Amino acid sequence: MKYDDNNIFAKILRGEIPCDKIYEDEFVLSFYDINPQKKIHALVIPKGKYVDLDDFNTNASHDEIVGLMKGITIVSKKLGVSSIDGKGYRALANISEDGGQEVPHLHFHLFGGEKVGKMVL
Ligand code: 5GP
Repeated sequence: MKYDDNNIFAKILRGEIPCDKIYEDEFVLSFYDINPQKKIHALVIPKGKYVDLDDFNTNASHDEIVGLMKGITIVSKKLGVSSIDGKGYRALANISEDGGQEVPHLHFHLFGGEKVGKMVL
């Protein structure tokens, strides 16, 4: 799928739509999900234009990939849910049609602040 510059997260990255920001660096932006499914529901997105995880892992630079992976843990620490100093959380990426992805800009959901339950099948 070609990247759509008008997707909602692209607009958030450009500052055209506000977000409740948690963290930002060279590689990632993190903000709270507008429709939280758990006590803590954050999103972590790469700054580059990648539709989904497979697009990202195929086309992103090593620095971008490391930046996103490390960004997830930086955010988990900021939220107090990391396994290092908190109780843990679930990181989840929906990928494309069968994966139930709605916004076509790669994002990881971070769910925590409570037991998040079993995986949905
Ligand atoms: P997906 O189903 O694509 O994995 O998840 C998209 C997520 O983006 C949903 O959890 C939805 O609530 C969230 N979302 C959609 N639009 C906005 C928005 O404008 N702001 C924020 N913060 N989250 C959004």
